[in-house]
Amino acid sequence: MDPVLDRYATRATPRYTSYPTAPHFQKGFPEETYRGWLADLETADPISLYLHVPFCRQMCWYCGCNMKLAAKYDPVAAYAKTLRKEIALTADALPARMTISHLHWGGGTPTALSPDDLTLLMQDVRSRWDFAPDAEIAIESDPRTLTAEMAKRIGELGFTRASFGVQEFDLKVQKAINRIQPPEMVRTSVTQLREAGVSGINFDLIYGLPFQTVESLVETVKLTAQMRPDRVALFGYAHVPWMAKNQRMIDDASLPDAAERAAQANAAAEALLAEGYVAIGLDHFALPQDDLTVAAQNGQLRRNFQGYTTDLATTMIGLGATSIGKTPFGYQQNISETGAWSRSVEAGILPVAKGLPFEKDDVLRAEVIERLMCDGSVDAAAVGRKHNAPDNWWVAPCHSLVEMERDGLLQMSQGKVTMTARGRPLVRLAAAAFDAYLQDSTARHSVAV
Ligand code: SF4
Repeated sequence: MDPVLDRYATRATPRYTSYPTAPHFQKGFPEETYRGWLADLETADPISLYLHVPFCRQMCWYCGCNMKLAAKYDPVAAYAKTLRKEIALTADALPARMTISHLHWGGGTPTALSPDDLTLLMQDVRSRWDFAPDAEIAIESDPRTLTAEMAKRIGELGFTRASFGVQEFDLKVQKAINRIQPPEMVRTSVTQLREAGVSGINFDLIYGLPFQTVESLVETVKLTAQMRPDRVALFGYAHVPWMAKNQRMIDDASLPDAAERAAQANAAAEALLAEGYVAIGLDHFALPQDDLTVAAQNGQLRRNFQGYTTDLATTMIGLGATSIGKTPFGYQQNISETGAWSRSVEAGILPVAKGLPFEKDDVLRAEVIERLMCDGSVDAAAVGRKHNAPDNWWVAPCHSLVEMERDGLLQMSQGKVTMTARGRPLVRLAAAAFDAYLQDSTARHSVAV
């Protein structure tokens, strides 16, 4: 372990999938404000759609998502029915029929829906919006419960991408996280989806899990590479049992320490590069010909709630309990409790619970943080000029990065910040220097590596 990185690795920082980050969204956000934002959208601009299904058949102990266990289908069926109404309610609030450039089903487990409910929901979406010819239509799935029928239906419905939470193939680790899925099970799901015409496959891998070792993770990467997913995300397990109570099932003593976590992250990254993947942003890898690689090479990589993306839309409409959306005017988050979310939709009220209107300063800092997270480099002075910020606005945040500069983790010149190869894993810490909300924050975040 690099002793310099070691000093920084345990500092808590947000993941910056948004700025301002979700803990700063205001409660009691007025529905009419969100309605106003939707009504004022530029109708010629493409939008992205995020649909959330919070149900899973089994609880993974590491999970940090908003999910509900559903042993029976009844609550899922009721949820699907309400989601259809939310699609109509939201489409009615828009100024015109708009075009979708990206659609993403997340969860939970979206494939917990029955094939027929997924079909009805996608028919509703297509009846209210057009899809751009090159639209990405993506769905998260679970190899443990994906049926051959559902894989076929996903293909028939025009999905272009599916992602799987693979995490780690070692059986001891899988038992400790309550997620048993042998490589053959994952391989079958991937094959079924590819045969159904879904061309893009994503895997998520995690380091820092209980009983995980460098060797087990490198073996996981090798098995992953044999299945050749187009994109691989490599996340550090965020152990936050004070927020995610299920994580209390994970014995603290079984978790690798900071040095071991860093060794695992490095070994997995090196193994992915050796298998022909290209490193993208902080924690993604993609095949050289993948759109994400091309976007990164062209400086067009973006970051949103799903992580790194090629999605250039300035509006993301979030549907379903707890989902987050973004418009050019601010963020909105839906009610997370499914009963309250459902009652709101049934009453014809957009189920918004929280929101945050953008200030000029938010937009400026969001762009600086996004470019740093995507490119590992940003000219904060130039971004400031674009947003008519005071000439020296970047001086204070850059001043707080002097220690990292002295440690060889980044270089600075007149407001331009560039992470060095050594400092790249700590880009979240550099981004945090530009976060005006962080100083007052009481929210607790995961560690930097
Ligand atoms: S990790 Fe995924 S599949 Fe597991 S409980 Fe959480 S949302 Fe469900």
